[in-house]
Amino acid sequence: MKTYISPWPASVACPPFPRRLSILGATGSIGDSALKVVAKHPERFTVTALAGGRNGQKLARLCNLYKPRYAAVLDDAARREYFAYVEDACPTELFVGPDAYVRLAALDDVDLVLSSIVGAAGFEPTLAAAEAGKMIGLANKESLVLGGHLIRAACKASGAVVLPVDSEHNALFQGLAGHGSDDELKRLILTASGGPFRGRDRAFLKTVTRDQALAHPNWSMGAKISIDSATLMNKGLELIEACHLYGLPPDMVDVVVHPQSIVHSLVEYVDGSQLAHLGTPDMQVPIAHCLCYPERVTVDVPRLQLAAVGTLTFEEPDLDAFPCLRLAREAFDAGPSHPIVLNAVNEIAVDAFLKERIGFTDIPAMIEAGLDRHVPVDVSTPEAVLALDEEVRRETRARL
Ligand code: NAD
Ligand code: MG
Repeated sequence: MKTYISPWPASVACPPFPRRLSILGATGSIGDSALKVVAKHPERFTVTALAGGRNGQKLARLCNLYKPRYAAVLDDAARREYFAYVEDACPTELFVGPDAYVRLAALDDVDLVLSSIVGAAGFEPTLAAAEAGKMIGLANKESLVLGGHLIRAACKASGAVVLPVDSEHNALFQGLAGHGSDDELKRLILTASGGPFRGRDRAFLKTVTRDQALAHPNWSMGAKISIDSATLMNKGLELIEACHLYGLPPDMVDVVVHPQSIVHSLVEYVDGSQLAHLGTPDMQVPIAHCLCYPERVTVDVPRLQLAAVGTLTFEEPDLDAFPCLRLAREAFDAGPSHPIVLNAVNEIAVDAFLKERIGFTDIPAMIEAGLDRHVPVDVSTPEAVLALDEEVRRETRARL
């Protein structure tokens, strides 16, 4: 695929096994799933680096187990916690602070970087991995929302290869592999579960609580992406992610709600064929596909039994009750600085909702107001991207 964000993975020589991994966001939900794949196939991997955020205790436990050469935490409190739990015999060297993630993304002795930090904090490490020419398993969709154009340019310059971990984009990647040329592609169709409030109206959404919003019907995920799934912002971010990954305009990416989360997305060709990817909704499946690409390995998830599922249903998204998907599409259309605003306000609003400071429907209202206020700026450098992200966060916090 000529318009792909990086060299098309099938066209490059992949690193041999055992692959040396750097897992950023190792203490999160994606990190858990990745380490299950690693534990199932220990002969295929060397865990060279593990990065957590503030959870020093969990990171220490992982380091005691995997004995990576390097680890990273965000701050001194996490560092102290880490040292309270790490065993004396553990050989790991610990780095502290945001720069540590950039360092662990670009290590010489690493083949594959799993970018699975949550939020805009994943942007700089992902860009660093791209600049360093790594193979990147990309879960952190926010990094493309902030700077997909910069990551694309970095991959072009260095030859870094991106493998999409996000289940929908992994499904699209598989649906595109070896099937026709770019001009035979008609559109991509992202499936969305609809989240826990599918079918509900605005009046109901005004009353929902944090715990209701965190209870995703099909997927077990971190808190931020769970709320994004409930507002449909996750699908909005994924729409932008798909445009950057596959180099397509937003009008070639559609969304259909599919509550069972069995069909993970579809690729439509000009002849009307739609190729779907189906599977049990468990992130170990796309993660294993990326970590072992192009080989396939067994994964410990229940096999999909379609007769047991029985019925697969599809419906249009309700953009009136869930405006975030519309806002994301409009932001991408408006130019490269608008998605940065969309993402920054969303992160502040989701955090405030999780702390029970604002209501559920305040999230899209804050984003829409932030986008309305925004005057486009040049974001052609990483510094400009980060400066805008920081400015919008400051302003949004001040308005809360
Ligand atoms: P999570 O909250 O469970 O884990 C986040 C990880 O990032 C943790 O290790 C945390 O310590 C670390 N972290 C948080 N803030 C950080 C910071 N400022 N600096 C460095 N590290 C920090 O999140 P998750 O559900 O694993 O999601 C991770 C990413 O993967 C997100 O971008 C999400 O959109 C994407 N993703 C997740 C899923 C899923 O099923 N969980 C599916 C597709 C894509
Ligand atoms: Mg997804």
